[in-house]
Formats: sequence, C-alpha cells, structure tokens
Amino acid sequence: MSTIVIKIGGGRGIDPCANMDEVAGLVEDGHRVIVVHGGSHETNVLAEALGHPPKTITSASGRQSRRTDRQTLEIFTMAYCGKVNKAVVERLRTAGVDAVGLSGLDAGIWIGSRKNAIRAVEDGRTVIIRDDLSGRVESVDADFLNLLLDAGRVPVLTPPAGTPDGIAINVDADRAAAATAASIGADELLLLSNVVGVLRDTEDENSCIPQVCSESFGEAEHAAQGRMKNKVQAAREAIERGVSRVVIGSAQGPSAIQRAREGAGTVFAQGALT
Ligand code: ADP
Repeated sequence: MSTIVIKIGGGRGIDPCANMDEVAGLVEDGHRVIVVHGGSHETNVLAEALGHPPKTITSASGRQSRRTDRQTLEIFTMAYCGKVNKAVVERLRTAGVDAVGLSGLDAGIWIGSRKNAIRAVEDGRTVIIRDDLSGRVESVDADFLNLLLDAGRVPVLTPPAGTPDGIAINVDADRAAAATAASIGADELLLLSNVVGVLRDTEDENSCIPQVCSESFGEAEHAAQGRMKNKVQAAREAIERGVSRVVIGSAQGPSAIQRAREGAGTVFAQGALT
C-alpha cells in the first residue's frame, strides 16, 4: 500500500476528470491517494469571458506566474474551486470514491506567505508589483489530511492557499503538491500535464529526459522553460524532502497514471541529488 499524490494540470487539452477512473482503481487497491489539480486554462477562458483577461508575470529569473489582483483571484477561485474541483469530486464520487474537495485555504491545509513585492520584467523593463495576491506554500496540515486518508476519504485539493492571517493567495499547484507529498511522507508524486515529460527540445516530443540523476538535474533545470520550471523545481523540492520518486509525465491517454507509475516521462528518484 503506497501513499501517492497525483497532480493533474489544468492546461489546455487536459481534463482531470478523465484520470479519475484510474484514481478509483488505485483507491480500490488500497492505496492512499491525494489528488491535486490545476485550472489555468478554465481560469483564462472565464477571465476573458468576464472582461478581465489574464496577464502573466515573468520574474527576473524567467519564472512565469499569473498576475493575481483581487478580481483575478475571484475568477481563479470560481474556476479552480467552483468548476474544476466539483467536476473532479463528482467524477470520483460517481465512481464510488469518497472524495472530499477542498481548496488549500480550507481548514488551513496550505499556509504560505504572500509576496510583498514582486520584481517582474515587463517589455524588457523591471517593475515592482506590490498588490499581488500570490505566494508559496510553506506548511501543510498533514494531520488533517491523514485524518481524511485514515477515514478512507480521498482529498481533492486545489489552490488558493491561505496566509497565516487567512488571506487567500494564488500558489503554484505543482509546488503545493510537492509540499503536500513531502509533508505526508508520500512514496510517489506524479505531476501530470499536457507534455510527455521534461523535453530537451520543446519542439521535439522524442527528446524527453527519461531519468534525472545528479548529473542531469542541471540539464532538466536548464531545459525547462516558462511554466515547466515550476514542475522541475517542485520535483527537486519533493526529492530533497524525502519523497522517494517523482514523475513528470503526461495526463493524456486511458492509462496515463499507470504509465507514469511505470516510469513513462521524466523520473526523479531519491539519491538523484547526492
Ligand atoms: P499544467 O498547467 O498542466 O500544470 P504547465 O502549462 O504549467 O502545465 O506546464 C507544461 C508546459 O510547460 C508545457 O505545455 C510546455 O509548453 C512548457 N514547457 C516549457 N519547457 C518545457 C520542456 N523543456 N519540456 C516540456 N514542456 C515544457
């Protein structure tokens, strides 16, 4: 019996509901499973429809994140917690799984601090953004999650997280999933999205880096552009905090979870950083 954290991305072309029959199979086999999901594409669609189009912030180091003003946070919450989370919970419950959908804000599951000032690059100029409602998960209430898992329930988690003062903040779901996996002592973390793994060349699907060891961690970090940087960072954080195995792989296809567990994608294993 393993403890597995499965994060399904919310990019274009990914429907996390499509992976839930496989999750139901894992739960039936006795595994302890936490599902984490994104909702970025749904948020973009809703933001456009509501006349508040999405904006991306690029940090000086090239990391990308969503510009999250108050209105964006509200739209983000509608998409992540309202639409996607409830659809995933519905799919699991109809498959006989006792799923519990919660945002990281609920019960203080994911606590993090808000970034006070973000140094971003806009049209080649560095600007400071002070009112962004985003941050990074710093602690996870593992006791609460274990309470649910011990009762045979399957937590379905999604951003936002909360600050220690209870303010909702947008956080990266990959890194939140990594923090969750580390805190509950998970055996496996699967980060599944619309790509087959970390590609050496983003134009070439056959250039997937299969295994990351001490020599190739730098290569994976170097190859990752834009949003993939967060996934590789999440993999590093999970491995450094004791998760045995992390796979960055595809969420697409009928046996996506099984294939990732068997090593399809980019596999980061414990010892990779020694
Ligand atoms: P999700 O929202 O599903 O979590 P993201 O959009 O955050 O996924 O990250 C996956 C995206 O990262 C891919 O669709 C791809 O455009 C981009 N990417 C950048 N560099 C790489 C790389 N080296 N290998 C694979 N994907 C990459």
